[in-house]
Amino acid sequence: MTAVPASSLPAAEPLTVMGAGLVGSLLSLYLAQRGHPVQVYERRADPRRAGFQEGRSINLALSDRGWRALEGVGVADDIRQVGIPMTGRVMHDAQGNLTHQPYGQAGQAIYSVNRGHLNRRLLDLADAHPNVQLSFGQQCLHIDLKKQHLHLLDAATQQEHTEPYSRLFGTDGAFSAVRGALQKTDRYDYSQDYLEYGYKELTIAAGPDGAWRMEKNALHIWPRGQYLMIALPNLDGSFNCTLFFPYEGTESFAALQTPADVSAFFGRVFPDAVPLMPALTQEFFEHPTGSLVTIRCFPWKYNDDVLLLGDASHAIVPFYGQGMNAGFEDCSVLNELLDQHGDANWATIFNEFQTQRKPNADAMADLALYNFAEMRDRVADPRFLLQKKIEAR
Ligand code: FAD
Repeated sequence: MTAVPASSLPAAEPLTVMGAGLVGSLLSLYLAQRGHPVQVYERRADPRRAGFQEGRSINLALSDRGWRALEGVGVADDIRQVGIPMTGRVMHDAQGNLTHQPYGQAGQAIYSVNRGHLNRRLLDLADAHPNVQLSFGQQCLHIDLKKQHLHLLDAATQQEHTEPYSRLFGTDGAFSAVRGALQKTDRYDYSQDYLEYGYKELTIAAGPDGAWRMEKNALHIWPRGQYLMIALPNLDGSFNCTLFFPYEGTESFAALQTPADVSAFFGRVFPDAVPLMPALTQEFFEHPTGSLVTIRCFPWKYNDDVLLLGDASHAIVPFYGQGMNAGFEDCSVLNELLDQHGDANWATIFNEFQTQRKPNADAMADLALYNFAEMRDRVADPRFLLQKKIEAR
């Protein structure tokens, strides 16, 4: 198939993107750079405004497939400035002993990147593009697929209004309203599976001089068999920790009811981390407990007018660190298909997109679940450690 150069395309068709999270903001850049006018609707207020509260997971691991997608719109170098390379993982055992496990060859790394910065930077770049119109405080309530109408709630006026679309991209996350409309169509496959684990975000504070109090260029793991804690470095010297923990049981969120329970538990199982977590008990009770879900669905398109990307089509548990990366890759794969088929052949493009991406997304979902067992348990297995030592030689 001969590729159609993007510059020679008669690409003026207006497109609509629902959701300006990580995937929606990158997708709107890709589509705008191809010459399309892009209308983006986002439920939340503009995250670039002062006082905006960040959502889940403060930092994310950005890996190769994510970088390639960022390079495709020329923003990788900009984001790299605020990423911290993590060349391996550091395993903390119950006595506080450390084991280093490199991720790959010398020079290879995944990057810890701040979610808010990444989202804001992508929004800045999209906003600066003359083809992109961003509308915040616009919640999609429902969609009339036949009439091609969006029903939106305006947060400022609390009024519902209807907007037409010709081509709609659903990047509105795991609980997508766009997918919700597709789910009501005939023979739609959908499943959601929750883990019996939740997650809690906590902080390892920076040193008094803003220095990192554990190895900076590593992803830290405290594997404890039935649960685990991880920590990723931030630019300000702190680390963002995530405790993945059962909802119920003797060692669980349900069992930790008081600050004394939390201090005793952490002191026993994460003894080297506790002195670095001055706000532990306060954060434990103030921060929400997040749930962990795998969502699979098919098809990802409706005729040639609606396409789902990112978590809207494939939400996965975070243990492989690939949810955002896979969503970013959706954007670069869609762009390649547009290069191949031209910007008018949407039926072919949507078909090929879902045929190519669905098996990869399913494999990623399985790997993420498998890696949960590995991270909380197998990484601490002496046989695994020995194998890693041999591989590292
Ligand atoms: P989202 O980020 O959820 O964005 C969806 C956007 O749509 C939001 O802005 C939302 O406000 C908006 N929206 C939702 N509903 C509506 C509506 N009805 N109307 C209008 N707008 C709407 N991935 C990685 O690659 N690496 C990691 O290290 C990693 N760590 C993670 C850690 C945790 C604890 C969790 C929970 C996830 C992690 N992920 C990671 C996964 C990653 O967060 C997601 O895959 C990624 O955020 C998906 O991006 P998205 O744009 O598809 O969805």
